Amino acid sequence: MKKIILASNNKHKVKEFREMLPEYEILPLEDIGYYDDIVEDGETFLDNALIKAKAVVSFLNSKDFKEDVIVVADDSGLCINALGGAPGVHSARYAGDHTVEANRQKVLNELKDKQDRSAYFITVLAVMNLDGEYKFVEGKTFGDITPDVRGYAGFAYDPIFYSYELGKTFGEATAEEKNSVSHRARAIIELKKVL
Ligand code: IMP
Repeated sequence: MKKIILASNNKHKVKEFREMLPEYEILPLEDIGYYDDIVEDGETFLDNALIKAKAVVSFLNSKDFKEDVIVVADDSGLCINALGGAPGVHSARYAGDHTVEANRQKVLNELKDKQDRSAYFITVLAVMNLDGEYKFVEGKTFGDITPDVRGYAGFAYDPIFYSYELGKTFGEATAEEKNSVSHRARAIIELKKVL
């Protein structure tokens, strides 16, 4: 079975990749003995995905890793049109070193007087072989930021993201519903096309 090394240790992501790519063996970073923190200081999602993919490929090459593997690195976030694309690459720490509630509240405050509440989630995947050749694929899902928190499901910005396709927030959706339209799932569908 062909192997994909996923530049992440996030259990949800690993599970999602395994479910959507059953024909591949998905190995998280801990399975290849990579424990360093990768500093994601890029200015775009592509920069950050590439930083992670390169770090993992150079680690594998430094270990003289010879197996035929593909490295996949992801970067995701929420982009709000009226905020010029913010929080964007800063989605995880938009309100600084605070909680997800603080991030959500910051977004809601900044949108208070805005008419346009349209937004999208995006996932960019960098796909790299051990020679350093790479491609990007991406997935997006569109919606509006609600004026208040709705629902308890999902994580981070899910309860304030009203999906046009689902007709409710991701916080009100089941995991199956969210996965049927999510940016991450769509990026993985694109990934399958280039593998
Ligand atoms: P990551 O690159 O997948 O770790 O995502 C970075 C940040 O974007 C997360 O910490 C969240 O704040 C936000 N984000 C990404 N995907 C989602 C999602 O599906 N729901 C809610 N927030 C998300």
